Amino acid sequence: MTVYGALEGGGTKMVLAIVGEDGAIREKTALPTRTPEETLPEMIRFFRQAPIAALGIGCFGPLDLDPASSSYGHITFTPKLAWREFPILSAFREALGVPVGLDTDVNGAALAEGRLGAARGLGSCLYVTVGTGVGGGLLLGGKPVHGLLHPEIGHIPVSPVPGDPLSRGVCPYHKHCLEGMASGPAIERRWGSPARDLGEEHPAWDLEAKYLAQLCATAMLAFSPEKIILGGGVMQKKFLFPAIRRETLALLNGYLTHPVLAAGLGEYIVEPGLGTESGILGAWLLAVEAARAQERA
Ligand code: ADP
Ligand code: ZN
Repeated sequence: MTVYGALEGGGTKMVLAIVGEDGAIREKTALPTRTPEETLPEMIRFFRQAPIAALGIGCFGPLDLDPASSSYGHITFTPKLAWREFPILSAFREALGVPVGLDTDVNGAALAEGRLGAARGLGSCLYVTVGTGVGGGLLLGGKPVHGLLHPEIGHIPVSPVPGDPLSRGVCPYHKHCLEGMASGPAIERRWGSPARDLGEEHPAWDLEAKYLAQLCATAMLAFSPEKIILGGGVMQKKFLFPAIRRETLALLNGYLTHPVLAAGLGEYIVEPGLGTESGILGAWLLAVEAARAQERA
């Protein structure tokens, strides 16, 4: 049976898997993300143990995904300095000699959720992870969206919520962007304790729902995805879901009409259908597509 390599590249860890053509994970491991000099050989060693037909990579960014660009397949302006301008696509293609598919980690997760998870059977969805950072991947017409660059929905400007004690968000670039105001580190900076430790009654969560609702309303108005999927560490607080749905409806204020809104967005703003596996299965789907593209060429 054909097997594929899947790599979910994160700023703190790299998750690597060998996946069958049925999507079953045969082997999986995680390595800390050190420098490319240290981590790349370890990753290559892992993928060489199996006769993989292709490799798919869902990676932290920003990435250059424009095939016409001279830095295509590079990690570009990342704050992780050791990885800046690292040609991740060609490094693996040359070392492994197989087709390599590359997209952002969150576009990969959106692809997996759209094909196999919470948005299965739909052509579109927005997948957002709310964790150490906030990132979003967008699937439209069955395809992850790339344009001038790729969506960076974590950094959309948000309006400060009146009474928010955090006057400046934690993003070094923006005073009031979603990541700066709503990521795990933003919550910790605002309240002085880790997000995980704050109970349901804490005022943190009313604010959090109001910021994430700004994202949901903006996304519905800008892209009209058929599902919004919220994952990541902070969304482990499941009680956020009803609050986010309520605040999103309040922001939209009756402007959009559709049965999913009339039903309170319960089936629309949802948890990942693939749990914590959206990223690695997204990487697998990118590998399958890279193999097919090679066959067509
Ligand atoms: P990463 O974004 O680094 O890949 P996570 O998605 O797990 O990893 O996000 C980590 C962030 O999520 C941390 O800021 C942490 O405080 C927060 N977090 C983790 N678990 C929970 C939880 N159960 N409730 C709320 N916040 C959490
Ligand atoms: Zn920002």
